[in-house]
Amino acid sequence: MAERSQTAPEAGSDMGNDDAIGGNVSKYVVLPTGYCGQPKKGHLIFDACFESGNLGRVDQVSEFEFDLFIRPDTCNPRFRVWFNFTVENVKESQRVIFNIVNFSKTKSLYRDGMAPMVKSTSRPKWTQQICPPWMIFTLCCLESSCPGKCGTQTRQRLPPKNVYYYRCPDHRKNYVMSFAFCFDREEDIYQFAYCYPYTYTRFQHYLDSLQKRNMDYFFREQLGQSVQQRQLDLLTITSPDNLREGAEQKVVFITGRVHPGETPSSFVCQGIIDFLISQHPIARVLREHLVFKIAPMLNPDGVYLGNYRCSLMGFDLNRHWLDPSPWAHPTLHGVKQLIIQMYNDPKTSLEFYIDIHAHSTMMNGFMYGNIFEDEERFQRQAVFPKLLCQNAEDFSYSSTSFNRDAVKAGTGRRFLGGLLDHTSYCYTLEVSFYSYTIGGTTAAVPYTEEAYMKLGRNVARTFLDYYRLNPMVEKVAIPMPRLRKGKPPSYKHSLLRGPASNHPNGKGDKKSSVNHKDPSNSF
Ligand SMILES: [Zn+2]
Repeated sequence: MAERSQTAPEAGSDMGNDDAIGGNVSKYVVLPTGYCGQPKKGHLIFDACFESGNLGRVDQVSEFEFDLFIRPDTCNPRFRVWFNFTVENVKESQRVIFNIVNFSKTKSLYRDGMAPMVKSTSRPKWTQQICPPWMIFTLCCLESSCPGKCGTQTRQRLPPKNVYYYRCPDHRKNYVMSFAFCFDREEDIYQFAYCYPYTYTRFQHYLDSLQKRNMDYFFREQLGQSVQQRQLDLLTITSPDNLREGAEQKVVFITGRVHPGETPSSFVCQGIIDFLISQHPIARVLREHLVFKIAPMLNPDGVYLGNYRCSLMGFDLNRHWLDPSPWAHPTLHGVKQLIIQMYNDPKTSLEFYIDIHAHSTMMNGFMYGNIFEDEERFQRQAVFPKLLCQNAEDFSYSSTSFNRDAVKAGTGRRFLGGLLDHTSYCYTLEVSFYSYTIGGTTAAVPYTEEAYMKLGRNVARTFLDYYRLNPMVEKVAIPMPRLRKGKPPSYKHSLLRGPASNHPNGKGDKKSSVNHKDPSNSF
């Protein structure tokens, strides 16, 4: 999360020397006390020595129960939230209780129904379905042959009733998250994670694949390197006309993953990119009118290492915008230099800065903005989140807030809000690690990877409403490609029924403006 919520400090807590954890467990075999032979089936093997992996220590409490310790962020023991590890050498029907015992936070969405993510080698999607009570702990139900016929409702996480989050007297009154699980396939390797992983390598492959398409409105460059020499990518998405010498540019600048454990940030960011490079008429209009600059991964080392909040050297980069060092915070330094350069260029108008995060205690998507003395500027700043609320069912304007706390002075949103002039708006976009509620109901809908990406598509689309470019969409849509008879282009639905044409002022009724069931009409 980018910022502290109103009530919960997120300073982390010290671990004490006796809990010092040096690195990730590496194929660590848990053998029963006094057992000296070769490991047998059922002697669990834990591993977190892979990209974005995190598990620092395993203590066996009983035959069935294990205390698991998150490895703290590198060079900063105060942050312990992200975990991501595998378990193998299981026995069929082996039941276990895992206790994650050293979270650095107290408030958690685990109280509200969030559960760890799980997948296994034979079921590699992070998905699961609710099972009947007799197999409730298993990962059984992705197959149609499931004897429980439980394929009625898709879930992405373990059933919440198997997850308990409580203050534990056995662990120095730390908050502990315990969950029960039953392994069902002996050959499978099971993987558990705090949220859907999204690694540095995955993002590099994604960007490589986009680059190979040779789109004349998509540009990728290396803006800098991290301390460990990983790439700081900068994407530019715009019509080539806007990059002509002397052309005036309206720029939207987007950043993500400054906090490495906040993986939903990357899904949202990918959703934005996918939409902006698409042939959707709205995307074409946006490319004609705006220049999107996107630095999708501000903390590639932290992502690679499986940190939650910090860089390799233990810095929370989102507290160093005031004076980033070229050697200690090189990625932040590179992005800040570029933004200042654009700000000083009379031909460039930097209109939006959006930094994407994930939130560990709140539901929905929402934003943080700045407070300004100028009342009109303050009001204008509220327009974008209001429009986004109309476009995205999971985005909450009521959770959106504006502040100028001293403690957040080093965040991108606060720093750039102070630097840029009155025509620029700077936001932190937060999205829940867990779920959203849809207007009028209280039922929590767990986020899927796709739902995070959809929020990204809706963020991109909202610029159309903000700039009142809706009439332009109809113009670019007129010379539509000839398609086979009887099959209208899929985007036609959105032109007819979407908010773009219905509500040119972006003030339409939320329900009528969004059709979330029809994929051809979703963004
Ligand atoms: Zn954050």
